[in-house]
Amino acid sequence: MLKQQQPISEVTIIGAGIIGVCCGLSLLEKGYSVTIIDRTDPGEAASYGNAGVISPWSCVPQCLPGVWKNIPGWLIDKNTPVSFRPRELPTLLPWASKFLSNSTKDKVNNIANMMDGLMFNNILAYRHHLKGTGQEDLLVDSWYINVFRGKKNPNLEDYAWKLRIDRKAPISVIGREELLNLEPHLSGDCQSAIVIKGQARAVHPGNLCKALAKKVFLNGGNFVKANIDSLSLDTNGTYTLHGEGGNYTSKNLVLAAGIWSLDLIKSLGLKMPLISERGYHVEFPDPGIVLNNSVMDVAGKFVVSSMSGGIRSAGTSEFAQVNAPPNYARVQSLERLTKSLLPDLNTKNMKDWMGVRPSFPDNLPAIGSIPGFHNLYSAFGHSHYGMGMAPATGKIIANFISGESQNINLNPVKPDRYL
Ligand SMILES: Cc1cc2nc3c(=O)[nH]c(=O)nc-3n(C[C@H](O)[C@H](O)[C@H](O)COP(=O)(O)OP(=O)(O)OC[C@H]3O[C@@H](n4cnc5c(N)ncnc54)[C@H](O)[C@@H]3O)c2cc1C
Repeated sequence: MLKQQQPISEVTIIGAGIIGVCCGLSLLEKGYSVTIIDRTDPGEAASYGNAGVISPWSCVPQCLPGVWKNIPGWLIDKNTPVSFRPRELPTLLPWASKFLSNSTKDKVNNIANMMDGLMFNNILAYRHHLKGTGQEDLLVDSWYINVFRGKKNPNLEDYAWKLRIDRKAPISVIGREELLNLEPHLSGDCQSAIVIKGQARAVHPGNLCKALAKKVFLNGGNFVKANIDSLSLDTNGTYTLHGEGGNYTSKNLVLAAGIWSLDLIKSLGLKMPLISERGYHVEFPDPGIVLNNSVMDVAGKFVVSSMSGGIRSAGTSEFAQVNAPPNYARVQSLERLTKSLLPDLNTKNMKDWMGVRPSFPDNLPAIGSIPGFHNLYSAFGHSHYGMGMAPATGKIIANFISGESQNINLNPVKPDRYL
């Protein structure tokens, strides 16, 4: 399916996840020749296993005011949505202190504005990118049903909901009857929900990424399958990408390698506080039931959705090294929680997956020129929100390279903030 050849193009992108692929599409639209390099086929890493939520209203970061109050519970209880490995604490503590310093109301409000800007029009942008692929049905309209169980009631006065309401998200509260009309297979203890309308969901995030990558290559983009070990800047201002099977040169270089972007910048002598925030999914290929929307269990912080491979339940944050073995206790806990939310679910032949979110302490990505390195651009660090932010990231990177003005204040995502 994919061409393999030496990159002879104006722009090289490392990473064929959803971010790199959307950068490729936007650059092609501006007439640039593009090469994408990845060690695997497109859409096989974080962009494969996520929950597929595409929300224009996703403007709530993790570093909310008062988040510190949850930390003792996360340390003690193994079944909480967030977990740490004690041996990671030396790496985690400096990151966590920056994360907590971002949790003031003023800072969170600025972060929410930036997120809102990066999510703007993302559904339309995906539909535009998918046009002509023949796989337009990989994205479907959806509501986002945030389910409350037991005695816990929705409160639109809560800070996180107010952030969305302030930014005009179409939100309403529904009771049990209406909820069960929307999603008849939810457990009996689901009493109410907050519904966000006007969303979409990917029915196979990995295939969505692959379909868009195929469009890049059918429109003249090159694909090179190679692992890039390190980068160097030559005296003539071009970059050498040192790969396993040989070296590649590039004048304009976009780093869209997700969490592994950290290793690439390290080879140029740079450091950034990007941490590996791992997540899991369990997928049930013969679920016996169908969900009509993306459904979030508010307490458990996981999202269930009907996908082309069955019902997928995705979530949890595990702060652990990229290459540490998966923690199967997280998988079992996700399976248990999903079954308790969807009692009719057939859990036979369950598949599990673990992937890595690249997370900065302010929950925003780094998008833009890397200071001190001419024609080197960062497009990484999208943490929990990369599916939603990918089309805007692609456009912004293409504008940087073409020298066009940006119609959005990009100060909060400047890579300089951490360099
Ligand atoms: C459980 C879970 C649920 C999520 N749910 C959602 C959601 O519902 N909505 C949402 O918006 N976001 C969600 N996310 C976040 C989203 O998945 C990520 O932000 C996004 O996929 C990041 O995309 P990426 O292209 O930056 O990285 P990746 O998809 O990880 O791609 C990076 C690519 O770079 C390649 N690469 C890396 N290093 C090298 C190298 N040295 N040489 C060659 N190739 C290299 C890799 O092979 C990979 O293909 C979720 C994440 C998780 C883990």
